[in-house]
Amino acid sequence: MKNFVDKIQMSRITSICAMKTTTKMYLSVILSTLCIVFFQYQLSKASFVTLQRSDSIGGSTSTNNIITSEKNGNELKEPSPMLPPLYIITPTYRRPEQLAEITRLGYTLKHVPNLLWLVIEDAATPSALVTRQLKRIGVPFEHLVAPMPDKFKKRVVKPRGVSNRNRGLTWIRKNATDGVFYFADDDNTYDLEIFDQMRHTKKVSMWPVGLVTKYGLSSPIVRNGSISGFYDGWIGGRKYPVDMAGFAVNVKFFLSRPKAIMPYHAGYEEDKFLRSLSPLNITEIELLASNCTEILTWHTQTKKNPVASPIDMHKYNGTNLVRLRKLIV
Ligand code: UDP
Ligand code: MN
Repeated sequence: MKNFVDKIQMSRITSICAMKTTTKMYLSVILSTLCIVFFQYQLSKASFVTLQRSDSIGGSTSTNNIITSEKNGNELKEPSPMLPPLYIITPTYRRPEQLAEITRLGYTLKHVPNLLWLVIEDAATPSALVTRQLKRIGVPFEHLVAPMPDKFKKRVVKPRGVSNRNRGLTWIRKNATDGVFYFADDDNTYDLEIFDQMRHTKKVSMWPVGLVTKYGLSSPIVRNGSISGFYDGWIGGRKYPVDMAGFAVNVKFFLSRPKAIMPYHAGYEEDKFLRSLSPLNITEIELLASNCTEILTWHTQTKKNPVASPIDMHKYNGTNLVRLRKLIV
């Protein structure tokens, strides 16, 4: 009898143990599933610039239109959820070299993670060829237009790219909340290293730019780790005699300066824009490129090409030249 009772108790204990093991199994499966779901949620939240889109696609005025918007032009570089977003503001305009410049810059930017390329044409209407090329390159982009006001077009020395860059700044004010922005002209040359470095700018960062003026260089002069002046072939009474390609700005800092804007003043665009970020102490400027001892950006200038001679459409009708002529300026 005792044996029988013992047996019953034993079998109960075994089944309780078995139950506990099953429960444990279920619990751990549920827990791990929850962990995975939570982790994926966090990833998806941070996977790209948290854009609060308030610019309307196809808005009411041409200067404010987003012509095309591609958040996911091809795959984003993974994994980069913790990287602050980088906004690259590129002014561009119609000329024989335009598509070549866009293509070269675009494929450079394609190597940079968590980046949004704001391509802004100095034009009344967007170029379909530019849109097509941006899509092909596959860098996430916004395609906008901002024509230079007519009164500036008549000037001998024009404020080049200013309407476009200001359009980029307006876009940032409306849509960005954090990260860093940088003015990258379509014809310059950029080492990928500079994007990694500028991304962590707290207020304003600066670094040397090669091929600027007869000095071949524009750079902060660094003595004992801090700025003691600027080296540039043209000082012109500027507080910040730097090149457009030589600085980046933190988005939050910019948003805290509601009056910051780029003036239509040829030769003084960088200086006056940086001044408009005041208050900004020169000691707060972060020095990149190993304390300004390396050149990671160049103010390259593409040779100007003459407008292409017209193709004789009687002679070449029915050939590939009919289509090629639409691709050239
Ligand atoms: N740009 C523009 N409209 C113009 C001339 C230039 O949008 O009428 C753009 C150009 O594509 C470039 C930037 O502004 O991204 C600076 O122009 P450019 O390279 O001609 O000036 P530089 O580098 O010689 O100062
Ligand atoms: Mn240029």
